[in-house]
Amino acid sequence: MAKLSIRDLDLAHKHVFMRVDFNVPLTEDGSEITDDTRIKETLPTIEYALRHKAKLILASHLGRPKGKPNPKYSLRPVVDRLRTLLDHRLGTKTNVAFSPDCVGDTAKEMARQLESGQVLLLENLRFHPEEEANDPEFSKKLAALCDVYVNDAFGSAHRAHASTEGITHFVKQSAAGLLMEKELNYLGKALEDPARPFVAIIGGSKISGKIDVINNLLDKVDTLVIVGGMAYTFQRALGVTTGKSLVEEDKIDIAKEALDKAKAKGVQLLLPVDNVLADAFTADAKTQPWDTSKNFPAEWMGLDIGPKSVAAIKEIVAQARTIVWNGPAGVFEFPRFAVGTNAIAEAVAANQDAISIIGGGDSVAAVKQAGVADRIKHISTGGGASLEFLEGKKLPGVEALGNK
Ligand code: AMP
Repeated sequence: MAKLSIRDLDLAHKHVFMRVDFNVPLTEDGSEITDDTRIKETLPTIEYALRHKAKLILASHLGRPKGKPNPKYSLRPVVDRLRTLLDHRLGTKTNVAFSPDCVGDTAKEMARQLESGQVLLLENLRFHPEEEANDPEFSKKLAALCDVYVNDAFGSAHRAHASTEGITHFVKQSAAGLLMEKELNYLGKALEDPARPFVAIIGGSKISGKIDVINNLLDKVDTLVIVGGMAYTFQRALGVTTGKSLVEEDKIDIAKEALDKAKAKGVQLLLPVDNVLADAFTADAKTQPWDTSKNFPAEWMGLDIGPKSVAAIKEIVAQARTIVWNGPAGVFEFPRFAVGTNAIAEAVAANQDAISIIGGGDSVAAVKQAGVADRIKHISTGGGASLEFLEGKKLPGVEALGNK
């Protein structure tokens, strides 16, 4: 990795400001954490800092409090959970304090009193509108709390906010945390130097959200598999009618261009060869199998890929050495239309010779639902950020980190 890592820094007895992603789901009243995965994911970086005797300041956003303090979005419930997780992980008691504001005199004083190996969690950064506005004065105030900066919040790295970008202009050193480093290594290697064959599977509802990903991947992959709702716009580009399936009429030309680009580049572009058609967009709709080569009946819509498509995808995935998957193959929220998505999850997990990378909330949910998450090499923690990375965009929160 070209960027500095926390492992390149001297942390001992220094104030380390670590941007983490503690944007955890809470109960309606904001009092209890319902899923602590995001806290657990950053524990290795926290442990690393504490074992290297840092005075550790943790900062995060939570939800969308719209620039105002709101108890529903307080990070206070994270303190106890973090303490418990750290005690368990480190085998000793860790001192975790909480500052009710991320800037100001209390935060400054609490940071000053920190001892090496202790943790101070700051209140939600987004209680201040200056955070999302990337206000330089606010960035300076955050920077004043620390000696060095570490960013472990990959999921926020595509946003230039004060705590992800602005702060780096006012600290001596800025480095990636271990989780951030892992994301950059996996995604970076896939795009820059992939083991081949490199297969990308892109699904989900619409082309419009993912055309930049498709275009960038067409420059990199050997095979691009298109599934989900967006496949029907491609199908229309090939002149097959799709009944009531989801189609973006104004994107048919863009689909044609992508098909032409694939041909010109010698990339195999695989579309579903069959579908599960439904007579309504409901969980218990009537269904029938349908080959893509035939025009769809006018009143029916495709809600999943069919068994022949699954077989074709399995074969391609089995031969791949790098696999990137983003987006479901069907309306997987309805179990009867989750068959294709689950089959892809299992096919990706079954190929243990490949570097498999999964991004996007739905595909991540699918591998968890299929019970195969532990056999995927890398599950990205950043939906939006991983998409922008796959688009070939520079992420402001990554660019701002120091170079090795
Ligand atoms: P995205 O946010 O673009 O990744 O899309 C995810 C959504 O695509 C999920 O909510 C799926 O239900 C939806 N989706 C996948 N396949 C289809 C389809 N054939 N028709 C309509 N929606 C679909």
